[in-house]
Amino acid sequence: MSDYVNVTEIFGCDVFNDAVMEERLPKKVYKELKKTIEEGKELSLEVADVVAHEMKEWAIEKGATHYSHWFQPLTGVTAEKHDAFITAPKENGKVLMSFSGKELIKGESDASSFPSGGLRATFEARGYTAWDCTSPAFVRHDAAGGTLCIPTAFCSYTGEALDQKTPLLRSMEAINTQSLRLLRLFGNTTSKKVTPSVGAEQEYFLVDKEKWLQRKDLIYTGRTLFGAMPPKGQEMDDHYLGTIRQRISAYMKEVNEECWKLGVTAKTQHNEVAPAQHELAPIYAPVNIAADHNQIMMRILKKVASRHGMRCLLHEKPFAGVNGSGKHNNWSLTTDDGINLLDPGKTPHENIQFLLVLTCILKAVDTHADLLRESAADVGNDQRLGGNEAPPAVISVFLGEQLGDVLDQLISTGTATHSKKGTILETGVKTLPDFMKDATDRNRTSPFAFTGNKFEFRMVGSRDSISECNVVLNTIAAEAFKEACDRLEKADDFEMAVHDLIKEYAIDHQRIVFNGNGYAPEWAEEAKRRGLPNLPSMVDAIPALTTDKAVKLFEEFHVFTKTELESRAEIQYEIYAKAVNIEAKTMIDLATKQIIPAVVRYTTVLADSVNTVRAVGDIDVSVQLELLKKCSELLKTTNSAMKNLSDVVAKVSKIPEGRERAVYCKDIVCKAMTELRTPVDELEMLVDKSMWPMPSYGDLIFEV
Ligand code: ADP
Ligand code: MG
Repeated sequence: MSDYVNVTEIFGCDVFNDAVMEERLPKKVYKELKKTIEEGKELSLEVADVVAHEMKEWAIEKGATHYSHWFQPLTGVTAEKHDAFITAPKENGKVLMSFSGKELIKGESDASSFPSGGLRATFEARGYTAWDCTSPAFVRHDAAGGTLCIPTAFCSYTGEALDQKTPLLRSMEAINTQSLRLLRLFGNTTSKKVTPSVGAEQEYFLVDKEKWLQRKDLIYTGRTLFGAMPPKGQEMDDHYLGTIRQRISAYMKEVNEECWKLGVTAKTQHNEVAPAQHELAPIYAPVNIAADHNQIMMRILKKVASRHGMRCLLHEKPFAGVNGSGKHNNWSLTTDDGINLLDPGKTPHENIQFLLVLTCILKAVDTHADLLRESAADVGNDQRLGGNEAPPAVISVFLGEQLGDVLDQLISTGTATHSKKGTILETGVKTLPDFMKDATDRNRTSPFAFTGNKFEFRMVGSRDSISECNVVLNTIAAEAFKEACDRLEKADDFEMAVHDLIKEYAIDHQRIVFNGNGYAPEWAEEAKRRGLPNLPSMVDAIPALTTDKAVKLFEEFHVFTKTELESRAEIQYEIYAKAVNIEAKTMIDLATKQIIPAVVRYTTVLADSVNTVRAVGDIDVSVQLELLKKCSELLKTTNSAMKNLSDVVAKVSKIPEGRERAVYCKDIVCKAMTELRTPVDELEMLVDKSMWPMPSYGDLIFEV
């Protein structure tokens, strides 16, 4: 078969990974580099020079002409600047291909065009990118040819982090240090490193490119700003895990192959709940790599879609009334020698180390629920969180039956004496095997669910970087571990002290545990009674970044300085206001240039029909008249809503930048947008389809 793919052969073929390094680098250099990667030892320029040379030679063999420091500024997407390997021509007019250690480890970049939240003025524009050697370089092939991409961190001239990666790496150090302390207390002397591992399940929509091109709202904002529901939505549940159609299968095949070549472990793919919605999940990896890979994956999803005459929508809520897309962040802590700190074993009640880790995490999530919520705040996610399919904006933890029961025992009697066991699942069919059921069922409605040996944080938006939530998870867990270790290391009787501590944490933080239906309206009430924060919008969530509690947390573990936190809050406000502003302007544009003219044309057709039919004789024209009247009324409402939105948008630039502007956008602009959308969606249901100026929801999601 011509399209046979040897997966083991292509996997990682475009990655400068450990195997390539071992093969190509002189032994001494390889060892030095490994020390830097594994133990964080500083890299000498001599070593960097050799690595750079070999990397270049390898990349050129792979067809690369350029190299690029690849980084993740606070725009949410990746950034890159390409440099060719060429040197200035020699006297004979020939050029050489060169790449030095200095060019590998440090890049200089104009930082002024990236969000910095007031950290720097445009005149002091210098920023640096620094090689993150823990994440492998790779050669990317696209229309630009081959480019050697070097994962880097991005910081300002004065050393403040301007990206997602720097704080992530800092938080990994924090959790490593504190987890090792905890492990030592339990007699572990062999593990050298604890790494947070993450598997990020990615949801996305696919729509036809020709139809996409006819929707200015999708083009400019990533979501539909108008659109009536089709007669059929997702109520039949016939898409979820349904047979994947050929066009989509061909797309997925290519996505997988591109992922594999770049070392991204694309593993599980399926149709999601909404029509035209799909999911792709990789095998979990150390979180910095998982974060890079997720960015690579999103890019591949988009690139391959356009090759197949489609567009991949990564927006959190492309279609109102239809399920949105998220990114489930599966998080665990693993040692270099393979111990998962979140593995309860078969008898969790006896696993004291696990119970301490678990109750520390309950404490961390309860104490910093606001920060965790903030880490998933994203303009698009505001449309999704709290929607029918997405976790509510309230943070709670699902433990499930088995652990919930252990926790109850701890709280009521102080000790847990037994663990509920899984039972045999009998299928009732002789030819089917009976098997052991898990001790715990799933819960899809919880924002933070324990799923066997990991926590699944389900709030993150589909378009967002997974870095932010993992920075928070790593740091809040580090803080809880530290506080526990501070106490336990001083204890005379360790057994007793750890027992007391587990019980204390279980009691103090039991309010964060919720095993019920997170989508039920009663939960919001219950959460309120429990005093859990409910932060429905991004604008409500941003202040969590700069509370005294947050500053203390992040400064203590050197993850963010107060200045960095303040700048990040500013950036978030700015991003929010800008995004809403673009959406509002797009609505005005669509209403003025496409929708109102279409309705005017349709009413003219109706009026003409009334006259023409009447001229024939005494024939009933009440239907035409009724339609004409309805459309004209809605047209009037549309027009005044449009004028109102224009007035409201005109004022945005007069409101002081930052929080005030974001609040204005949320309270005033978003409301005016809804007021415009309502009559337009009603009109869509009345106007002749052939005259409606853009593809409908039905056209977009059922005809891919
Ligand atoms: P589901 O949809 O049932 O939650 P998936 O198979 O779609 O499960 O995704 C589960 C994700 O969790 C995968 O990316 C998987 O690699 C990841 N994962 C599995 N075990 C761990 C673990 N110990 N730590 C972190 N992630 C894990
Ligand atoms: Mg899944």
